[in-house]
Amino acid sequence: MTTMDDLPLRDDLRGRSPYGAPQLDVAVRLNTNENSYPVPEAVAEAIGKALAAELRDLNRYPDRDAVALRADLADYLGHGLAAANVWAANGSNEVQQQLLQAFGGPGRTALGFTPAYSMHPLLALGTGTSWVDGRRGPGFALTAIQAVEQVRAHRPDLVFLCSPNNPTGTALAPEVVAAVLAEAPGMVVVDEAYAEFARPGTPSALEALPGHPRLVVTRTMSKAFGFAGGRLGYLAADPAVVDAVQLVRLPYHLSALTQAAARAALAHRDALLATVEAIKEQRDRIVAELRGRGLTVADSDANFVLFEVGGDQTVAWRALLDRGVLVRDVGLPGWLRVTAGTPAETDSFLAALDAVPVERKAGR
Ligand code: PMP
Repeated sequence: MTTMDDLPLRDDLRGRSPYGAPQLDVAVRLNTNENSYPVPEAVAEAIGKALAAELRDLNRYPDRDAVALRADLADYLGHGLAAANVWAANGSNEVQQQLLQAFGGPGRTALGFTPAYSMHPLLALGTGTSWVDGRRGPGFALTAIQAVEQVRAHRPDLVFLCSPNNPTGTALAPEVVAAVLAEAPGMVVVDEAYAEFARPGTPSALEALPGHPRLVVTRTMSKAFGFAGGRLGYLAADPAVVDAVQLVRLPYHLSALTQAAARAALAHRDALLATVEAIKEQRDRIVAELRGRGLTVADSDANFVLFEVGGDQTVAWRALLDRGVLVRDVGLPGWLRVTAGTPAETDSFLAALDAVPVERKAGR
């Protein structure tokens, strides 16, 4: 049988594994930070109509620049942003890939602060950008001083910040973004995939955009909007950044169907975002319940919670799966991540966890 190793694969891809959160058919799926609530019927109908209206024109290419969709996204973001400040692609992963294609690449370096979103280094790898695994402090905190020291040491072409951070859940203090922007010689990307779930008073890096043409904020409709299957991510930045990513984007990368579906979803954003408060309640409930059980839990501004199970986390992960609950092993020794979904999903998760031996370190 031919394997990848028999092919003339790039040397830097040899021995690597693809991104692979398990997609298992179990009752309670809390491993990829999706929104557990289905698209409401009225919104599904509106999306259906919008798609139907496109079908006869599928002989033509879509709007290459997705201008109407970008205007809708800018309107949603507010902060005085216009279509020229916004770029959209098939998920924020594609947006970040385009940023690396435009500003990274062979001979260039990107820095992130581990643990953070596991796709950032993989996207760097795919674009031939050297990746530097920066460090965080105790409790996964990242202070302005730590971040600036590492930026100064590595002089990266791109810095990836993630706020709220996946997998830890905690939002970054705005001083960290400001300090990194002041020190970084290149682009600063703030991945705000989970911004809508942040606790009240958590500022967005969108506020720092004016006067900072090297700052890029990426967002997605995959989480709060419950539109992960629609594949729509976007960025907000100076219009010059949007010009730059257009140099590397594939022509017609966003299908007419994607653009129409996303616009219909955005037109019904109140209905879609109505689940956010309920999800935050479950997030806070999970944090409180786990702490009540004596577990160490990271503060969360997102729709997931990172908690310590101690020892070999794969054992607890498997034991939960055996009880029909799929959570995420993010490869952090002793820790697991669970998505906050419906109240019933929280019930199932907690019941399953109570049957699993974990280390309790109350008082830590
Ligand atoms: N950023 C972060 C921090 C994420 O956790 C995810 C999804 N897990 C993404 C970006 C990518 O999301 P999408 O491509 O669906 O927009």
